[in-house]
Amino acid sequence: MAKILSGKELAEKMRQEMKSEIDELKTHHNLVPGLAVVLIGDNPASLSYVKGKEKACARVGILSREYKFDADYKEEQLLKLIRELNNDPLIHGILVQLPLPDHINEEEILYAIDPTKDVDGFHPVNIGKMMIGAPSFLPCTPHGIQQLLLRNNIEISGKHVVIVGRSNIVGKPLAMILVQKNPGANATVTMCHTRTKNMAEITKLADILVVAAGRPHTVNAGMVKQGAVVIDVGVNRIEDKSKKRGYRLIGDVEFDEVSEKASAISPVPGGVGPMTITMLLHNTIQSAKNHAGIK
Ligand code: NAP
Repeated sequence: MAKILSGKELAEKMRQEMKSEIDELKTHHNLVPGLAVVLIGDNPASLSYVKGKEKACARVGILSREYKFDADYKEEQLLKLIRELNNDPLIHGILVQLPLPDHINEEEILYAIDPTKDVDGFHPVNIGKMMIGAPSFLPCTPHGIQQLLLRNNIEISGKHVVIVGRSNIVGKPLAMILVQKNPGANATVTMCHTRTKNMAEITKLADILVVAAGRPHTVNAGMVKQGAVVIDVGVNRIEDKSKKRGYRLIGDVEFDEVSEKASAISPVPGGVGPMTITMLLHNTIQSAKNHAGIK
């Protein structure tokens, strides 16, 4: 049976470390990291993500300020708010929860965020820095995946990493992070997507297989090499009348059969999800230190 890569346990440990660091910053520098979370509309998944982020901030001692508006909030109003937050000395990180309603240009909004407060790591300046291997805010999900591997003593250097999915928030930045000539990276990376031919032939070559397709049952045991490490990023809601809320969450990987073959596997829920929020906290602390000139 595969080792279970629990993001929940690791996130808890990392958040304890962060809490101690924040206590230090408060005591010695009178510095409280601050995160602004902006939510437009009432998408239930977004509401639950935002709630999770705010709860995590409160537990480690990050000040979080919520800006919640109706779905008809205007783009100009949102741009004005972002300009104010860019200039607010108590706010070190600005997070605009995606997706935004159709009448708001997502690119325009993300580009308006001061790159030094872009704790999601989605601004082109930070994406460019990540690509050339310069210090930057790394996007939280791929950074969380890298930490989940490294902190479980899984060697990445020299390994063949196959990533299913090429989105701008998971697949592409993960490839960019893991291919860097840096400690904790140096992987050989292959990316797959919906136009990939004979995908199973490629996934079977992976030492580390990361699946971020957003579709249940994308990867089964026949697509995995014996002893591979499997990271399941997918989060899919499946109707389940036995649950109070009427659904349960599953990943993109056939967990039971793949865990018979893999050496290690991340579960859904409790795998990559908690790591994503943890890296957001990490970026917010980093930003507060950068703004205060603390090394
Ligand atoms: P996305 O933007 O929809 O991208 C999905 C990618 O997977 C696309 O590149 C798509 O290919 C590819 N794909 C879809 N079905 C495929 C298949 N059958 N075979 C090969 N490739 C396939 O999704 P995303 O934002 O990256 O998110 C992916 C999943 O991760 C979702 O379930 C999301 O909820 C989850 N997620 C979780 C976290 C977390 O913190 N746990 C964070 C972010 C995302 P094309 O480009 O060809 O369309």
